[in-house]
Amino acid sequence: MEANQQYLLDKHRKTDNKIETLREYAEQNAVPIVDRLSLEMIKQLIRIHRAKNILEIGTAIGYSSMQFASVSNDIHITTIERDEEMITQAKSNFETYGYSSQIRLIEGNALEQYNEVNDKQYDIIFIDAAKAQSKKFFEYYTPLLRNGGLVITDNVLYHGFVSNIDIVRSRNVKQMVQKVQKFNDWLISLENYSTNFINMDDGLAISIKGE
Ligand code: SAM
Repeated sequence: MEANQQYLLDKHRKTDNKIETLREYAEQNAVPIVDRLSLEMIKQLIRIHRAKNILEIGTAIGYSSMQFASVSNDIHITTIERDEEMITQAKSNFETYGYSSQIRLIEGNALEQYNEVNDKQYDIIFIDAAKAQSKKFFEYYTPLLRNGGLVITDNVLYHGFVSNIDIVRSRNVKQMVQKVQKFNDWLISLENYSTNFINMDDGLAISIKGE
């Protein structure tokens, strides 16, 4: 790991909360969760933006949604997950860590849940599900994003492959990386969004609506 990154991780470790214990579980069980510095960046955006309603695509075990909710008691998260095992674990974690009242879990394919989540406008949409589908999630859910709201997309550099696709051998991975490349090109070209890409962890894109 790069020295600067290690240094910053060590700093943040001093602010670990209880939810952070799930990171070890996630690593041991190969559950992909948002990287630590990216998480801290998103939490800071939530604070700066005074976000109260957040829509997350891709819950997994509920780690990121609980971390977002931990920023303030008046934050409400709607999070969508399709995998049965993840749903069971997320529900149990929300109970264990005391976040059931702040987090609403929608079960099913995120490409079909619009009518389950369109009861409010969102300040932030966090896209963290199937990486080849990020554009679809973006198009499907951003009508629910308020003007001035943020779309945060994780893994836009995907293991360094997005900037260096020639090193990818697997055909499937190559296709997926090409989709991420196309998504990034499309995102930066959107006229009603202002996007910046952050070279942190696996790459974050932050897009502001109507800027
Ligand atoms: N946001 C979580 C965190 O940082 O703690 C990690 C989410 S993990 C990277 C991605 C999750 O998205 C997986 O649990 C996967 O089952 C789910 N997923 C992928 N495609 C989906 C879809 N179309 N609808 C719902 N969930 C999906």
